[in-house]
Amino acid sequence: MVLDLTSLISGKVNSLDFEYDLGNDGDENVLIPPDDVSFASTAHVKGTVVNNAGYMTLELTAELCYTTHCARCLKDISGKFILKFNRTVANSGTLQDEDNDAYVIMKNGKLDIDRELVEELLLEFPSRFLCEEECAGLCPKCGKDLNFGPCDCPKKKEIDPRLAILQKLLEND
Ligand SMILES: [Zn+2]
Ligand SMILES: [Zn+2]
Repeated sequence: MVLDLTSLISGKVNSLDFEYDLGNDGDENVLIPPDDVSFASTAHVKGTVVNNAGYMTLELTAELCYTTHCARCLKDISGKFILKFNRTVANSGTLQDEDNDAYVIMKNGKLDIDRELVEELLLEFPSRFLCEEECAGLCPKCGKDLNFGPCDCPKKKEIDPRLAILQKLLEND
């Protein structure tokens, strides 16, 4: 989405609200989900650009619905990832380093933030999800979901003290 900031620059308005769905205007800034994640829809973006006596700031929230699997028990999970994105708006050619993450660059009164927003969304998107903090996961031997109780696989037993001595000798060998 390209925001037209001319009314802000001219002082006609002091703030400009915007709301859109990322990538729905047919540009190339499409969100490619990480492995094992699918996005239920594109990100919904809502924000404001404020002009404070020539100093312009951008503030937005992007919401992204996803489905994925628990990293331990593989159960399906879905949720909403929320990203806060705040930047200072700078005019093209006024910064020494336009790649500075604190800024978004406006050209001829137009501001296009989608490329940076997509980058930030993918950077901040969690790399691992759990169905719950305490998820017990699957038994590595039989694959049973241990959230539903223990499986019948033999557990590590206390080693017989006599065998322990033998084992120690073998290890020192
Ligand atoms: Zn789980
Ligand atoms: Zn098992």
